[in-house]
Amino acid sequence: MKPTTERNDSLVLGGGVMGAAAALALAKKGERVTLIDRYQPNHAHGSSHGDGRIFRFTYPEAVYLELARQARLGWDELTESAGQPLVVTTGNWDTGVAGQVQLQELEANLRQHDMPYEMLSAEESNRRFPQLSIPRGSVALYQKDGGVVLADPAVRALWKAAAAHGARTLSDERVIAIEIGDGGVRLATESGQRLSARRLVITAGSWTNSLLALVDLELPLEVTRELVVYLSPRQPSTGSPETEIDHRVGAMPTFIDYHGCPPGPRQHPTYGLPQIEVPAVKVGLHHRGQKVGDGDESSTPSEALEQATVEAARRLLPHVRREPHSTLTCLYTNTPDYHFILDRMPGENGISIGAGFSGHGFKFAPVIGEILAALVLGEPTAQGLDLFAIDRFASV
Ligand SMILES: Cc1cc2nc3c(=O)[nH]c(=O)nc-3n(C[C@H](O)[C@H](O)[C@H](O)COP(=O)(O)OP(=O)(O)OC[C@H]3O[C@@H](n4cnc5c(N)ncnc54)[C@H](O)[C@@H]3O)c2cc1C
Repeated sequence: MKPTTERNDSLVLGGGVMGAAAALALAKKGERVTLIDRYQPNHAHGSSHGDGRIFRFTYPEAVYLELARQARLGWDELTESAGQPLVVTTGNWDTGVAGQVQLQELEANLRQHDMPYEMLSAEESNRRFPQLSIPRGSVALYQKDGGVVLADPAVRALWKAAAAHGARTLSDERVIAIEIGDGGVRLATESGQRLSARRLVITAGSWTNSLLALVDLELPLEVTRELVVYLSPRQPSTGSPETEIDHRVGAMPTFIDYHGCPPGPRQHPTYGLPQIEVPAVKVGLHHRGQKVGDGDESSTPSEALEQATVEAARRLLPHVRREPHSTLTCLYTNTPDYHFILDRMPGENGISIGAGFSGHGFKFAPVIGEILAALVLGEPTAQGLDLFAIDRFASV
């Protein structure tokens, strides 16, 4: 690799929501940082595009609830760069049969953290949230403080805020070589750019293992292409008549349906978001997508998955059409236990890796950016990170 003329303190490889958040956190600490992505910000090839993501405190693990609290502060702080709030509070609604383990775990964690919630009977829930229907004997856990994070505006705001704090941003630059040595890291891009720095943060989403292969590391990551289906309300929401069933954000909560899901990490609940930009409710089957290669853009989701998603929605959402308004695909990068990887690269203190967000990372991006920045700078983190350590995998 040729020597470079410009040297950075830090490089961030991958400018999806996590990399943009890490670049912002580093720039705020006064680092000369360059954020590099192979595409333009807000591209639709990876994991961070679309109109919204669920923002929730309803996790069984204390660590995620605490991270969500910190992330919420981060999103609120970013409102200025975005020119709009990035989290819209609309409540989270989770359902299952009465006494179902998942709901009990969520309830216990909320209670332990003094977070308000309500456990509603089917009758109460169906009356209060007519957009969503559950049978007698089922219950719904409603948590009022959750909502949706506006995905495309959030990624845009992070890039903008990082640049405003002095980060250099490079898009349409694909990194093809990583060299570690001499107290630092050097990167080469396909177009011939050369960059060097003392530190590197790798946030390459579903391309993580192809990049780590350049430095002889492989993490136990599985990439899946997931599908979401947008279903229009039978009556478009206008907000006027009192009797109207309003499916818009602000009027309808996000939803996760645990009916029929055995406990454990490999769960496939139906989840969804109210209408945001697209005039339709978004529904997906968590972790039901097909396995694909790193960053694979060629595969298309099966029709069977689309049909299964519509069928699950039909049971839960009685007032939406059955013919999809549109569909969207997006990549999950899954770890075996569905917990993230937030750690230094083994044997390399100057490199941190944020990967394996397993389909639930977006909401946490501001705090994950701070964690990755602290790790690469060798600073202590406010959070215990054992759950996210690379050495939990015997194979690495
Ligand atoms: C359908 C779907 C629904 C989801 N729902 C939720 C939800 O409700 N709530 C929630 O919190 N999370 C949700 N998630 C998960 C969340 O969106 C992801 O965890 C998050 O977007 C991951 O971001 P990332 O930055 O790690 O990856 P990405 O956004 O994929 O970013 C990685 C970046 O690295 C770049 N890159 C890769 N290789 C190179 C290279 N060689 N050179 C330069 N750049 C490179 C890519 O171009 C890309 O921009 C969902 C995900 C999907 C797909």
